[in-house]
Amino acid sequence: MTDLKNNMALAAQHLGRFRNQPLTHFINGEWTSSAGIKTFENLSPIDNTSLGHVAAGTPADVDAACRAAADAFPAWRDMGGPERRKLLHKLADILVKRADEIAMVESTDCGQAIRFMKQAAQRGADNFRFFADKAPEARNGQALYQPEHTNLTMRTPIGPVGVITPWNTPFMLSTWKIAPALAAGCTIVHKPAEFSPLSAALLADISKEAGLPPGVWNLVNGMGESAGKALTEHPAIKALAFVGESHTGTLITIQGAATLKRVHLELGGKNPVIVFDDADFERALDAVVFMIYSLNGQRCTSSSRLLVQKGIRDKFIAALEQRVRDLKVGHPLDPATEVGPLIHPSHMEKVLSYVDAAREDGAKVAVGGKRHAGGPGIDAAGNYVHPTLFTEANNNMRIAREEIFGPVLTAISFDTEEEAINIANDSEYGLAAYAWTSDVSRAMRLAQKVQTGMLWINSENNRNLPSPFGGIKMSGIGRDGGDYSFEFYMETKNVCVAYGSHRVPQLGRKG
Ligand code: NAD
Repeated sequence: MTDLKNNMALAAQHLGRFRNQPLTHFINGEWTSSAGIKTFENLSPIDNTSLGHVAAGTPADVDAACRAAADAFPAWRDMGGPERRKLLHKLADILVKRADEIAMVESTDCGQAIRFMKQAAQRGADNFRFFADKAPEARNGQALYQPEHTNLTMRTPIGPVGVITPWNTPFMLSTWKIAPALAAGCTIVHKPAEFSPLSAALLADISKEAGLPPGVWNLVNGMGESAGKALTEHPAIKALAFVGESHTGTLITIQGAATLKRVHLELGGKNPVIVFDDADFERALDAVVFMIYSLNGQRCTSSSRLLVQKGIRDKFIAALEQRVRDLKVGHPLDPATEVGPLIHPSHMEKVLSYVDAAREDGAKVAVGGKRHAGGPGIDAAGNYVHPTLFTEANNNMRIAREEIFGPVLTAISFDTEEEAINIANDSEYGLAAYAWTSDVSRAMRLAQKVQTGMLWINSENNRNLPSPFGGIKMSGIGRDGGDYSFEFYMETKNVCVAYGSHRVPQLGRKG
């Protein structure tokens, strides 16, 4: 409790600025005035009290931000890669220096447990350093030879980019998108989610502290259907990097179509974790619990469908039930907390609605299934739910088909490898999948057959920055990571140079 009290005091100190005056927009290196603006209230998931007011950006605000990004683009594009690298490393240094503040603000704003958010700044800094180091080579291309010509490819940054992020882990996701965009030489306009806008404001401040030229990093707060929509439609914006729900992804694509925006969509998932009889039982159990109950289950890559083979099913489910019962629900700033409050009352209602759906469809609510009544460190007015496990489910049930995005796991059993693959693939989503087996040949067969953007064998979502990250089917379009990111944020130009020896077609020539 002492740690919790200390963290609450620290958080209060860092949140003061947001409580005392409305959070506005950051355009061309300055925070805009709050005089006469429309705002909305930002609620704390911990107790649903106000964390302050936030400007509801208008199309005019978005226009100002996009113009600033367009004006700043030529100089940022033409800046040497080594110089951009230096600035982005400086930004990463400041992230690390302000790690406590970032963690406290992010935890309070999103309800994510501090044990996970503690590393947020470091991971964000890693993102910036990784892409900063690639900035000097981002433009490099290929030399493609022909007998009388050489084709040179070169990459140039695409232009100002709109970055639209969701509420679940906004800090981490924003850095994951913005770092490669800036390293490539693009300027950005960021529209964070209305449910958790605070860490985006810290990032904008830090961009200024790091010395990024005005207009390179712009931030517009507001609602998706107004500010977000205006950003997707703005002619100055050349590409949209979007993370959010699949349905919103389709809207973004439609809205951006009139100006032919390039879109990169990282969307929802209903990710299977397949545990075979020959799996390392304890490691698989740890991973299954971690990948759905960490980050409150509000995680795109969460393994929300457990497919467990019949030979170990009863033992595995029994062990799992115990672990889920023992999860420590608590105040997000308590270092002991494993599961914190959900982002918003409306989201909590949505998550809890699946308990009725599970019962109606014939599954068993083995653990949890209700709102938390409160207790030490847990305010009953907050959005706390009991970690939930549904068993005796099948893949046709809503709890197996729809993304719940909470600490809720649906367990389904299977007999054969083929059946497991069929169940895994019987989904509109295809973001991530996990498999636990000690049979290497089987692992390779799964790698071929499971329809997914990412497959982890005997692991839980290990992160590797050069690897491609992204989904197929309704889980998205495009890949992040390593050079994949630059492919999105840059245009490739082909320059064809002749050696002066080839025959040029001669039309209209006499004789
Ligand atoms: P959301 O789609 O509701 O909102 C995401 C962002 O889009 C917000 O900033 C919102 O204001 C904005 N938005 C909404 N409507 C818009 C519109 N018409 N035009 C422009 N912008 C609009 O998603 P959410 O509820 O904030 O986040 C949860 C979802 O994000 C889940 O589906 C989750 O799986 C997904 N997600 C995916 C990944 C991934 O990498 N694939 C990562 C994290 C979260």
